[in-house]
Amino acid sequence: MKAVQAYRFALDLTPVQERAVLAHAGAARVAYNWALARVKAVMDQRAAERTYGVSEELLTASLSWSLPALRRSWNAAKDGVAPWWRECSKEAFNTGLDALARALKNWSDCRSGKRAGRAMGFPRFRSRRRSVPSVRFTTGTMRVEADRKHVVLPRLGRLKLHESARKLARRLDNGTARIMSATVRRDGGRWQVAFCVEVDRADRTPGCPGSVVGVDVGVTHLAVLSTGELVDNPRHLAAAQTRLRRLGRALSRKTGPDRRTGQRPSQRWARASARLGRAHARVSNLRRDGLHKLTTRLARTHGTVVVEDLNVAGMLRNPRLARHITDAGFGELRRQLAYKTAWNGGRLIVADRWYPSSKTCSGCGAVKAKLPLSERTYTCTTCGIILDRDLNAARNLAALATGMDTAGSGPVTGRGADRKTRPGGLVATKRQPGTANAGQTGTVPPQGRTTDHMLARAH
Ligand SMILES: [Zn+2]
Repeated sequence: MKAVQAYRFALDLTPVQERAVLAHAGAARVAYNWALARVKAVMDQRAAERTYGVSEELLTASLSWSLPALRRSWNAAKDGVAPWWRECSKEAFNTGLDALARALKNWSDCRSGKRAGRAMGFPRFRSRRRSVPSVRFTTGTMRVEADRKHVVLPRLGRLKLHESARKLARRLDNGTARIMSATVRRDGGRWQVAFCVEVDRADRTPGCPGSVVGVDVGVTHLAVLSTGELVDNPRHLAAAQTRLRRLGRALSRKTGPDRRTGQRPSQRWARASARLGRAHARVSNLRRDGLHKLTTRLARTHGTVVVEDLNVAGMLRNPRLARHITDAGFGELRRQLAYKTAWNGGRLIVADRWYPSSKTCSGCGAVKAKLPLSERTYTCTTCGIILDRDLNAARNLAALATGMDTAGSGPVTGRGADRKTRPGGLVATKRQPGTANAGQTGTVPPQGRTTDHMLARAH
């Protein structure tokens, strides 16, 4: 099967190379900001003309927001706007214009209701200080050197990798991979190159095709499996978080920037801020590593993986839960399981959001009316079973898959195998809280909320 996947490697740039990459990233930002300013100017002009009562056909012509059109107008104006444009690859300007074209499309799709998910704001100008420097190459020579420790990119030349690129190099050598683009960006104080690669993956079957595993993502553990296994958070994560808090306190004692008084940050603040940034990056690296190891193991071992469809966006709005949820990376776990089960020939089942996996007894099936989050053990009043709350939920999820196989239907949403035929269909029309189907819960849609999501799902 063909799959598009990313290979990301840390880079060891020389100071000269770092300046070259920063120049390209800056060029991308200049093109982005210039095009955004033009788009805004035309929009404001048209709005003003409308207030004077100018008829629609006599208004200033609107700009096309497509990438080719933005590129054409940039090429016509670049001699005046950026007379130094020859110093950078044209891919740099393309990076910025492409980002703007996509941002504008997302915004307009969101306004016209074509785009699901949270409301998108209108694109904003990018600042040198706040934005992440990044440049993407889509054409030209992009290859991994034979020593597998260097990559060659257009204009930037030969860059040393911090780690071996052997996994990508092997695929490139035997012809099962084709590099489509390469992005160089700075992430948490470290430069990285990400290759977007079209890979021809061999068909696989999971180690135990018949086995079913329910996964309950927990707060104290990374996950609890229906097999009774508790998957711990990666080691060092707690230690890294202690350090994070300490660095945060140290930063707050130093003189930071202040917009109101025009106070510039001190050198010590800048250094402390960089330290804190690196510590944040380390925490997120540890978390991502633990999550990837877990999802790869699950997808390679079990034929069917069952997870819950958690309302992550809604839960993040609860400030007391937010930190724990982002810690565990609930949404990311599901996203990884979706593509990894597809790669490994397994399937992922996502239980309906309203399925009471925690409140149901995995022994006798009795459902409790209430189960506060503080209650960590499940005690059934009907059959007297006593077990860990998360383990109980994981067992219920696993039982859901077995029930679905025999009954053919149930309160579940199939995923994985049928993802190919309906790409993103179910993801895009995710139900929002307050728009439940009638009969499932008694939630009434709040005033003024449309039920688009529910209707889209009913098709
Ligand atoms: Zn029971």
